[in-house]
Amino acid sequence: MTDPNCLFCRIIRGEISSKKVYEDDHVFAFEDISPKAPTHVLIIPKKHFAGLKEAEVADAEIIGRCHLAAAQIARQRNIEQGYRTVVNVGPGAGQSVFHLHVHLLGGRPLAWPPG
Ligand code: AMP
Ligand code: ZN
Repeated sequence: MTDPNCLFCRIIRGEISSKKVYEDDHVFAFEDISPKAPTHVLIIPKKHFAGLKEAEVADAEIIGRCHLAAAQIARQRNIEQGYRTVVNVGPGAGQSVFHLHVHLLGGRPLAWPPG
């Protein structure tokens, strides 16, 4: 279920500190350590898998739960005028941590297309 050496699994287990935003049986959310917007929260499944590329049909529900948690956090923070959920897939897209995570970015104008 969790990977002993994975940074985000270690955050879920509390071995590495984080600023927790939300937690339920399936999902954990915390502030990004290097925020790129006034709201920059990472939402992760408690089950370890490397990313969207590695996801299986059995992971469909948890991927949806991560996005629904993002929507709930956005509602609580009053950023529903415009926010973005992002999943970077692979090093070429900037993925640097190989435990699936949804970025929630908001609280400022967000340009399109992203870089
Ligand atoms: P990505 O580049 O899409 O893989 O996103 C990884 C994100 O994790 C980056 O935005 C980092 O700033 C963030 N990050 C890395 N280490 C930590 C940490 N210890 N606590 C919180 N966020 C982190
Ligand atoms: Zn992990």
